[in-house]
Amino acid sequence: MQLSAVQMQKHARLLFLALLLTTPTAALAAAPGASAWVRYGAPAAMCFFCLAGFLNLGRDLRLAVSQRRATRFIKEATIGSSAIAVLCSAWCVYSWLGSSPGERIYYPIIIALGAFSTAYCLAAARGAAIANLVINLVPMLMLLFTSGERMDLAFGVSLAIAAVFQLHMIDSNQARIVELLSLQKSARELALSDPLTGLLNRRALIDNALALGSQGPLRLLVIDIDHFKAINDQHGHDKGDEVLCEVAERLAIRAELMGSVARIGGEEFAILGRADELPEALAAGLLHDVRTARMPHGGTVTVSLGIAEGPVHSEGDWRDLFQRADRALYEAKRDGRNRAVQAEALRDAA
Ligand code: GH3
Ligand code: MG
Ligand code: MG
Repeated sequence: MQLSAVQMQKHARLLFLALLLTTPTAALAAAPGASAWVRYGAPAAMCFFCLAGFLNLGRDLRLAVSQRRATRFIKEATIGSSAIAVLCSAWCVYSWLGSSPGERIYYPIIIALGAFSTAYCLAAARGAAIANLVINLVPMLMLLFTSGERMDLAFGVSLAIAAVFQLHMIDSNQARIVELLSLQKSARELALSDPLTGLLNRRALIDNALALGSQGPLRLLVIDIDHFKAINDQHGHDKGDEVLCEVAERLAIRAELMGSVARIGGEEFAILGRADELPEALAAGLLHDVRTARMPHGGTVTVSLGIAEGPVHSEGDWRDLFQRADRALYEAKRDGRNRAVQAEALRDAA
């Protein structure tokens, strides 16, 4: 949605500029008997509308960062462009009806070229593009088909065929955008998630740490399964994988609402969040949840945890936080496993 809106903002600005440039010729091209309202009023209204639109779209509307703004923009652009189409279409129909048979053929040409340029500019928003083609072309096609002139009929048929191709192009353009966006989304998900457990991976955790770091000090829990190698050795690697998934689920169930849960290596996990949002009691809860869960190999497992807190404003800060949590984890292993150790407690003791 945001991508369509950004593309549309760029193209619609060009469209306003192009329409603005055509308004003086509209005054010249009005049918000989046209009233002053039609001859000068319509181009003046158009000129005002296009100038306002051109200036408005020159501003940074921040469409790329907000789905809500992008949706509203597309809705407004659809309404605005349809209103312009009604004005242009009415002007052309009125001018056709007021012109001699020799001259009136210019109006279908003018509206056709305008309709196709507009559809190109609005192609990112399918509804707006289709509405414009229909409003611009259907009244003129009806005139061409019913005038009784064979050349009008021939031109009408060609115009209708070109319009159908244009509609098809709008559809395939839309399908390409949707495909591109879904590819982009799955590529991003693949790059940031762990394929075995579905948790975040190390890269995603670092990104989250840097993004969250500006909001205040962070707390990091590094978690390692105890004696995991023995499970692999006794029950096979596949069972080991199932145990990893089960542990991942236990961690996610308890901590996902408080912070980011990631698998950062073989049988190592991490939980990261703002220090004021990840309670200290979380570690005891995690130890309990894993220890009491029935695991796929038929037994139970325990985990050891290292915990550290600190500000993260750069990758260097992150490395420091991680090293402190990792050292605390090492202490938890040395002290007998199945426990949590705070990095700050280690420093105080040293
Ligand atoms: P400790 O309590 O000291 O952590 O002992 P441990 O056996 O858990 O640790 P160690 O580092 O000796 O062994 C980790 C094992 O994890 C070794 C490796 O084969 C296994 N491992 C790493 N990645 C995977 C994986 O993706 N799937 C499976 N099934 N095993 C893995
Ligand atoms: Mg281990
Ligand atoms: Mg390990």
